[in-house]
Amino acid sequence: MILNRLQEADCKSGWLLDGFPRNLAQAEALGKALQDAGMKLDYVIEILLDREIAKKRIMGRRLCATDNNHPNNIFIDAIKPAEKDGKPVCRICDCDKLTARADDQDEGAIDKRHGIYYDTKTGTLAAVNYFRARVKIIDLDGTPGVKEVSQALLAKLA
Ligand SMILES: [Zn+2]
Repeated sequence: MILNRLQEADCKSGWLLDGFPRNLAQAEALGKALQDAGMKLDYVIEILLDREIAKKRIMGRRLCATDNNHPNNIFIDAIKPAEKDGKPVCRICDCDKLTARADDQDEGAIDKRHGIYYDTKTGTLAAVNYFRARVKIIDLDGTPGVKEVSQALLAKLA
């Protein structure tokens, strides 16, 4: 289980689980396993984002044909594609081949995933609430950009 991994040498000074647990059952199992092992969870970090904004951010992603690591998103001002001759181009390299991933445009699949995330009875928000009664929760507003959210997190950890 995940606990074995957390007890390896490179986790001695700390660890971070990203995207896990995803539901209440996983949260309960993790909470119990940590307790049984005498391990402490310091924080749960929750980045709060309106469901419609979250959906737009997924659907707005654009891939640059030159380099997939060039972030472009038509719904995020900070990384909006540039424009050249009235056409959207990569904001990093001016490449005019910006495409959307098919699964980013699958609204039904996104709604299903978000249905699990925003579910306060058994989903990811239920997992957060499970820990809310047990450890310090750091709630962050995910509406601003990555830089602002990072700064807010560092300020709350200090
Ligand atoms: Zn590019």
